[in-house]
Amino acid sequence: MRCSNCAHHDLVAIQLTIASEEVAFYRCPRCDARTWTGSTGELTRDGVLELVRAGR
Ligand SMILES: [Zn+2]
Repeated sequence: MRCSNCAHHDLVAIQLTIASEEVAFYRCPRCDARTWTGSTGELTRDGVLELVRAGR
């Protein structure tokens, strides 16, 4: 996993489960870009918010 913004390759990965969906969150320590991926591929910020809402 590389940062899509600055190509830094040592991203911080956090695995979580939101609304029984396996979600991975990557943060770039260099430029602070954030990327979310779910079972269907990359998630938009809105997509993540929808999962959070569905999980409540
Ligand atoms: Zn970066």
